[in-house]
Amino acid sequence: MTKKINDSFQTSLAQGGDNLTTPFKPIIPGIFTSTTYQRDEDNQYRSGRVYSRADNPTYDAPEKLIAQLEHAADAKLFASGMAAATAVFQALKPGDTVLAPDIMYWALRNWLKGLATDAGLNVHFVDMTQLDKVENKVMQLQPKLIWLETPGNPMWTVSDIRAIADIATQHGARVAVDSTVATPILTRPLELGADIVMHSATKYLNGHSDVIAGALATREKDDFWQRILAIRAQGGAVPSPMDAAQLLRGMRTLYLRVRESCDSAMFLAEQLEQHPMVCEVLYPGLPSFTGYAVARKQMQGGFGGMLSIRLVGGEHQAVGTAAKTRLWHRATSLGGVESLIEHRASIEGSGTPVPNDLLRLSVGIERKEDLLADLVHAIEASA
Ligand code: PLP
Repeated sequence: MTKKINDSFQTSLAQGGDNLTTPFKPIIPGIFTSTTYQRDEDNQYRSGRVYSRADNPTYDAPEKLIAQLEHAADAKLFASGMAAATAVFQALKPGDTVLAPDIMYWALRNWLKGLATDAGLNVHFVDMTQLDKVENKVMQLQPKLIWLETPGNPMWTVSDIRAIADIATQHGARVAVDSTVATPILTRPLELGADIVMHSATKYLNGHSDVIAGALATREKDDFWQRILAIRAQGGAVPSPMDAAQLLRGMRTLYLRVRESCDSAMFLAEQLEQHPMVCEVLYPGLPSFTGYAVARKQMQGGFGGMLSIRLVGGEHQAVGTAAKTRLWHRATSLGGVESLIEHRASIEGSGTPVPNDLLRLSVGIERKEDLLADLVHAIEASA
């Protein structure tokens, strides 16, 4: 058994944070569509708002709530998860070295190998599940930033945030964690020693597959954070006010959705592990999974709503299974209330470390027995 979910999150999330201290005491905070704000007569901007490329009052409530959930000094919304993640790397200087996991969100890996490298970052990849390898690389390369993604998409590799943060501290590196899949309900990286947490808010935080957004939360409002804020403000990497409001609405049910998805994902993982046509189930909650011990230690209340399966019939059966499901929708993305199935190797293309017999499953909040029956039927029909 993992530790119990922190119940106070349930209350804060359900109420969308505390908005009653703002003018009019709204239960639901307002949406500010204005792009610009009036100056005071003495030429000051005492309201703190100037122009919406940099900031917007609609962000205040979701940002405050994310900071509260992550136990952060500050949190900011971004136009997408990628905008949030790339802002962290852009805050480094040309010539700086970064260490990233060999299993991670593929579009960010491609960006690191391409545009970030072109811009002068020295990017190295390492198996973040092997602490001795991480320590060796850190000693050898002296990176400025260690990027973690745990559980790591789409093999759900689990990296030990506390142990890696300890290594980083000894060598003067920062640690940033893509915690999209864990969500603040299951893991709070800042409590484990990380400096920055990143979320693709497009996924679980919003939860309804109708908003693209990202978020960063920081342990300290230090100079590095100020550089990140400057990158957001100067480049305008911000969501629309409508999206920010919709994100807050989605977050109000985050606790319930994550709890339900975790429960169903665990059920599916245990059932599918016994199916003769499934050669491997990748899920941090299974004792047979290599990351299980660390997951038990750093995830509270569940192991997430994401799992992957590998099929004995290889790519043919994997693609065939995705084609034959009725309830599981064939689509990219994750973390929504509807369950999605995806043949990852097809989307990641050549050079991917993902085996071509693998299907990624994003478990929504449908009845878990229906999801299992649909999937088993598709697996058997594609044999
Ligand atoms: N991180 C993870 C783990 C993701 O799965 C994704 C998107 O799939 C991202 C980051 C990027 O987020 P966005 O699509 O909001 O830019």
